[in-house]
Amino acid sequence: MMKKIAMFGGTFNPIHNGHIKLALYAAAQLELDKVLLIPTNIPPHKRYEEETTPRQRWEMCVLAAEEYQKLQVSDLEIRRQGPSYTVDTLRQLRARIPDAQLYLITGADMFLTIQDWKNAQEIFRFAVVCGVPREKEGLQALQRQADFLKNQYSAQTALLDFPLIEISSTQIRHRLKTGRSIEEWVPKNVERYIRRHGLYGDTQDEKSSFHKL
Ligand code: ATP
Ligand code: MG
Repeated sequence: MMKKIAMFGGTFNPIHNGHIKLALYAAAQLELDKVLLIPTNIPPHKRYEEETTPRQRWEMCVLAAEEYQKLQVSDLEIRRQGPSYTVDTLRQLRARIPDAQLYLITGADMFLTIQDWKNAQEIFRFAVVCGVPREKEGLQALQRQADFLKNQYSAQTALLDFPLIEISSTQIRHRLKTGRSIEEWVPKNVERYIRRHGLYGDTQDEKSSFHKL
């Protein structure tokens, strides 16, 4: 049987429970052998916030994935340097694991604009693109997009009826800046890493939170 391997890319700045739940959900629904979490080096589509190094974002992914056998973290994009384009990563994955069926996992915000990504046609040839609802973008909008991608580009798509999880890294960074708890938003060991390294303007280090008890 052909192995099924998914690429799940993102800035992961930081990785959060929404990412992890989505990766596990996709693995179960699509019967994937592995989900590769691949932190981007420099995201081409948004301004890079220099609050963490690529290596730190990668390390937090490793911590978050550590207890899940199906999740694996790849530093392919970080090692490649320069801006990270999904098509380049898929090319590399294809060369390394030529006998696998590749999947690409995307949240709605990504899925709805994927035709504008670099060499989108090639992305569609390499991978089944999986879309997942996020915020207001429900399954209906995703279904319309899936039809469009199929008609226009003969893209193979899969939609996952993933329950909405309203978490974003942006909100987490904001919560940290304003001294609020992120306990329910990220895995424990990721929170510990953030506190230990004082990331995202986090002012509440472990010692001071200990004093508050
Ligand atoms: P930021 O707020 O910095 O953009 P983010 O939470 O969107 O962070 P990314 O690293 O940008 O996280 O996202 C990586 C991938 O995970 C994208 O495809 C994104 O759509 C998806 N994703 C992130 N959070 C969720 C969520 N809560 N539900 C569904 N998909 C999500
Ligand atoms: Mg995002």
